[in-house]
Amino acid sequence: MGPFWYRASTVADRRVFLIGDAAGFTDPITGEGVAAGLRQARAFAAALESPDPERAYRRTHRGLTKDPRRVADLFLRLSRTPALVERAIRSHQRAPHTLKTLLGIGFGYWGFNRITPREWIRMFSGR
Ligand SMILES: Cc1cc2nc3c(=O)[nH]c(=O)nc-3n(C[C@H](O)[C@H](O)[C@H](O)COP(=O)(O)OP(=O)(O)OC[C@H]3O[C@@H](n4cnc5c(N)ncnc54)[C@H](O)[C@@H]3O)c2cc1C
Repeated sequence: MGPFWYRASTVADRRVFLIGDAAGFTDPITGEGVAAGLRQARAFAAALESPDPERAYRRTHRGLTKDPRRVADLFLRLSRTPALVERAIRSHQRAPHTLKTLLGIGFGYWGFNRITPREWIRMFSGR
């Protein structure tokens, strides 16, 4: 039973690199685990070109996973109680595009600045 908040203490050290779920995962709530693993594999390959591959990979990995983790966290918060779920569903009925925006953040297409203050309020109030 979730929520799962597994995180490795480091994702790269002494020529050992962790990619995909081995590097950390939250609940499979946003359906981006495979894409995230592939993005990390690409970052690993690029890091090998750097004079300090472990450092380069750690930095890129942080950048790649920060927003997706926040999106998963947000979805988990919004589903914590039946009342919150009802609000989130109401909010989704009123503004279905917000879900698309959130999923796009999780996939790394854009940042949280795409969510307007009005959308934040609606997400938590359902109004
Ligand atoms: C219920 C559920 C639904 C999901 N839905 C989606 C979805 O819709 N879309 C999506 O993108 N992602 C989804 N995910 C997440 C996705 O499955 C993972 O993020 C992805 O599989 C991670 O890939 P990985 O290669 O890092 O790890 P894994 O796929 O776990 O691969 C690790 C492999 O290593 C093997 N292994 C482990 N230990 C050893 C060992 N000691 N020696 C040799 N081999 C070993 C394992 O058997 C496994 O085959 C879902 C996950 C779950 C649990």
